[in-house]
Formats: sequence, structure tokens, C-alpha cells
Amino acid sequence: MIIQSERISLKHLLTVEALTDREVMGLIRRGQEFKRGAKWMPQKEQYFATNLFFENSTRTHKSFDVAEKKLGLEVIEFDSSTSSVQKGETLYDTVLTMSALGVDVAVIRHGDENYYDELIQSKTIQCSIINGGDGSGQHPTQCLLDLMTIYEEFGHFDQLKVAIVGDITHSRVAKSNMQMLKRLGAKVYFSGPPQWYDNEFEVYGHWLPLDELVNQVDVMMMLRVQHERHDGSESFSKEAYLRDYGLTVERAAKMQDHAIIMHPAPVNRDVELADPLVEGLRSRIVTQMTNGVFVRMAILEAVLN
Ligand code: ASP
Repeated sequence: MIIQSERISLKHLLTVEALTDREVMGLIRRGQEFKRGAKWMPQKEQYFATNLFFENSTRTHKSFDVAEKKLGLEVIEFDSSTSSVQKGETLYDTVLTMSALGVDVAVIRHGDENYYDELIQSKTIQCSIINGGDGSGQHPTQCLLDLMTIYEEFGHFDQLKVAIVGDITHSRVAKSNMQMLKRLGAKVYFSGPPQWYDNEFEVYGHWLPLDELVNQVDVMMMLRVQHERHDGSESFSKEAYLRDYGLTVERAAKMQDHAIIMHPAPVNRDVELADPLVEGLRSRIVTQMTNGVFVRMAILEAVLN
């Protein structure tokens, strides 16, 4: 007998803390069902989706594209460089327009933290909003695909030791993941340059030097240095970063046999992660990309149902 996962229904997906544990697990399990070939049963004949990306993206943008097309949605193209944004149109007015045109769901990535507040308070904007990343704020859909990848590997989160390593202060992926991993029972550790770590993260886990963590953890989650969110005043050496804070081949050799390496990508090879490890046996980076499509199908289904 095949037991179907519980159907989750959401108006928007903006942050991970707004989700209940039941919703998180429901979305992960539904993502797994889509991966095994499950089909969506739409309630209307036609749905419109648009992807409004105001910051660069490859995986999030294109995996939403693929997820939308797999679900049979009509995808309304939008390119901020050729839209009325260039005439000074605000994000609010762009989304208002999409909603007025009948778009059901807008996936938005924007450089401003909490950009979505004014959109969801609007009485006129009707469409659902999915946060595809807000500045250094949150990245809830990346978090869900990361959780799906960990769950697929270990079958649970309880007491799993997960290290989040790198530019934590500026990483929205780190912010979303630390909150949800702790909530689901994992033990979170941090490592990386101390100047990019903040004491406010101590409620979720503890900072340790990478060499003390490497042989203990089940999941090593490496992060890119978010240069675009730095003021450019600090000097940066790729070699020194890899040596001091990166996962080198030598360090990875000390990991437990079952331990895996994750990274939200784009990976700066030989900076935070040694090149041979990116597609090595422990790496789940390609799986993360693939799972991104399926978990995003589950998220789209939840806001459209
Ligand atoms: N792709 C992820 C993000 O948009 C990670 C990164 O850019 O480093 O936050």
C-alpha cells in the first residue's frame, strides 16, 4: 500500500520559522514523492507563475522554471533589465501588475531583507509570494531542499551533527538552515572566519575551529564567501582562506565514513572547498540541485492548492 504524504496548503512561503514542523516534513515528503514520479492534480485548468529575480541566480531561478514547467504552469517571463524597473518602477508596482494580470504565484529574489512585508500587507495584491532569497535574510526554498537531501541520506534529523562553515553573517542559507535544523533536533556547529560570525547565532549552535569539527560531524555544509555583501575593505586571499577555513582534501580525509559534504552553490572551487571534493564520493551537491526541483514543485503545489 502506498501512503500518500499529507497535503500542505500555504498562502505564501517567506521564512522558514513561519512553517510548522508538520508543514516542513509534509513538503519534504511531497518533494520525495515528486522525485519518484508523483503527479499534481490541479484544481483549475490554467495557472500562471512568474519568477522575478532582482539578484543573480542560476539554480534557484532555473529550478523554479523547471518545477513550474513540470507542474504544467504557464511561466510568464520577466527580466528586470528590460522591464519597467528601468523606468523606476518599484518592486511593489511590478508585483501589483503581475497580480492584476492574473498571475497566481510570484517567486521573488531581491537584495532587500524582508522585501515581502509590504507585498503581503497589500489588500490589492492577490498572488502568492515565494521568497527565493532576500538579501542576507533567508532562503527558505534552499533550506527545504537541503533538509530533503539530509532526510534522504539519514532518514531523520535527531542528534545529527551538522557543521555550517564559512561566511555565516552574510549567508541567508546559513540563517534559514540553522533555525530549522535546530528545531528538527539536529546539533548545529559553526566554523569559519570569526569576523563573519555573530554571537546571536549561539542560540542555534556553537562555533569551533574546523579541525576540531571535521572528524565529528555527519554533515559538512560549506558556504561561499558572500563578497557582494561585503564593503570591500578587507583583503582576501583564496589560498589563505582554503588553508585556514576551507575543506581541503586532507581535512576531508578525517571525516567519518558516512559523513557527507553539502554546499548551496555556486561553489568557488579551491576557496571554501577543494576542487576534487566538489564531485567526490562524499559530495551531495549535485543531489541538492536535483532535489531543488522536486521540493520546489511541492512548494508551488502547496501555494496553488
Ligand atoms: N545560491 C545561494 C544563495 O542564493 C548561495 C550563494 O549564493 O552563496 O544564497
